[in-house]
Amino acid sequence: MSRFLSSKYKDLEPYVPGEQPQDQKYIKLNTNESPFPPAPDTVAKAAEAAQRLQLYSDPDCRVLSEKLAKHLSDVSGLDLTRENVIITNGSDEVLNFAFMAFCSNEKPAVFPDITYGFYPVFADMNGVPYREIPLDESLKIVPADYTCAKGTLFIANPNAHTGVALSRDEVEEIIAGNPDDLVVVDEAYVDFGAESSLPLLGKYDNLLIVQTFSKSRSLAGARLGFGVSSKEIISDLNTIRNSTNPYNINSMTMAAGVGVLENEAYTKKNCEQIIVNRRYTEEQLKAMGFELTDSSANFIFMKHPEVDGGSIYEEMKRRGVLIRHFNKPRMAQYNRVTIGSREQMDIFLKVLGEVIEELK
Ligand code: PMP
Repeated sequence: MSRFLSSKYKDLEPYVPGEQPQDQKYIKLNTNESPFPPAPDTVAKAAEAAQRLQLYSDPDCRVLSEKLAKHLSDVSGLDLTRENVIITNGSDEVLNFAFMAFCSNEKPAVFPDITYGFYPVFADMNGVPYREIPLDESLKIVPADYTCAKGTLFIANPNAHTGVALSRDEVEEIIAGNPDDLVVVDEAYVDFGAESSLPLLGKYDNLLIVQTFSKSRSLAGARLGFGVSSKEIISDLNTIRNSTNPYNINSMTMAAGVGVLENEAYTKKNCEQIIVNRRYTEEQLKAMGFELTDSSANFIFMKHPEVDGGSIYEEMKRRGVLIRHFNKPRMAQYNRVTIGSREQMDIFLKVLGEVIEELK
């Protein structure tokens, strides 16, 4: 720390992202990326956009936001326009904007005790208090616990790191139970078998839905996410965006996003394959004695009754398979494993079998 750092950041503990080794040495199952390359033409579109890098990117993301609004209208049955969406540098950015815009001392952030690790960091970064509501014994969110929460709610659905999803009716119970507070539903993993709450936007004005191109849409490295809500809430978020970085999306990423939306069938096919691979992996793990949460995401959350989670992580890494371990209360016995290709999962299962035999 330098002697010049503002005192307000003195105690800030930054978010720690999963390891991104720069060699190809590992089977990488630690950051929930897609094993599939970006959709056809996406890279060519980005390269074409790179020809005009002397110009700033479009601060309104017109082409992409119109395409996205059309796509979201099709899947929700609502009439959404580009004024209902904000496009951001990964969904992390729109989440941070939401903490900036909608949380304060009077409106603390409220979220589960086990969830996306960036929420408490965003709260600390923005100097707003937060309250954590415990998951139940089976690591599920109990919607009734969120009634009259008296704060801005952040609900990841499916939840990180458990993968457990709430039904749309359960999400609705939370939204209806907090009519004077905003509910942010983070749907980063929704495409792998959960129900999106998008149609609820037609019924409630206190809902902001956040999604990403990083997982199901194979664009983690491009950094592209978005929020969908009422025009008023999107306008508030744009006030924050335009006061920090109006050119938050670079031209190449914008073009790549258009390419992805023109290839919806490719995204859908990849998600179906991940679900098949998840079911296969779950069966094999159960046969090996592992206990799993009921995941609707592109990862599983597993623990072994006899073998320590941290030791499994270390031994797997030593043998070239990267998974994610969180040394935190209630999670230390677990490991989170991204669902990759069938070939990756077979290597993971084989190495894991050896590790368990050795550590038991
Ligand atoms: N929400 C959740 C629940 C996540 O796990 C992640 C990925 N780390 C994000 C949001 C952010 O993803 P991105 O910024 O790549 O869109």
